[in-house]
Amino acid sequence: MGTAAQYLQMLRDIRDTSMATVGADGMPRIRIIDTMLVEGEKLYFLTARGKDFYRELMATGHVAITGLNSRWETVRVRGKVKNIGHEYLDRIFEENPSMNNVYPGETREILEVFCLYEGEGEYFCLAQEPIEREPFSFGGEEISPKGFLITDECIGCGTCQASCPQNCIEEGAPFVIRQNNCLHCGRCFENCPVSAIIRKGNE
Ligand code: SF4
Ligand code: SF4
Repeated sequence: MGTAAQYLQMLRDIRDTSMATVGADGMPRIRIIDTMLVEGEKLYFLTARGKDFYRELMATGHVAITGLNSRWETVRVRGKVKNIGHEYLDRIFEENPSMNNVYPGETREILEVFCLYEGEGEYFCLAQEPIEREPFSFGGEEISPKGFLITDECIGCGTCQASCPQNCIEEGAPFVIRQNNCLHCGRCFENCPVSAIIRKGNE
């Protein structure tokens, strides 16, 4: 289990991350953008003023970012961004020297830096059995409820336990889902004979 700062640093270590926005037509857009710098619970990246990505960030103030490393660990985040202009620009070039090939000399002037400063995310690891996941938040944001919960309506029949692909439901009164090992697939939810399993957030 890690901290939000550690999970953001994983995105920096991956570096070639996917960043998504919403276009003016309401449709999703995604592209590979380097995560250039992480300091504590703040993540920095940049783009050029002429790009649609820039306009979408300025219009919505939001971004979603995800990356997968060679150990099959995924980190995804979504949250609020602000344009900080040329602040950190020279430092980003120092820490990412390949940028000098793409924007040599004074052409870096066309770039502006964005800071992801508030949001929530999730660490997800497919390399172990059962899978491991951990939600996190940063910058004062709260973690949104996700997944499923077994309520006191449970009659202890064991159907959910037998139908779970990750064997992450434990006997009890009521039965209990080990949340950090749950895929959120919904198979238990669909198979409970007395509808004792609810989607989190619908309590
Ligand atoms: S299937 Fe429903 S009633 Fe049966 S053990 Fe699971 S939660 Fe309880
Ligand atoms: S949502 Fe899927 S993985 Fe999670 S407890 Fe239910 S059956 Fe298991």
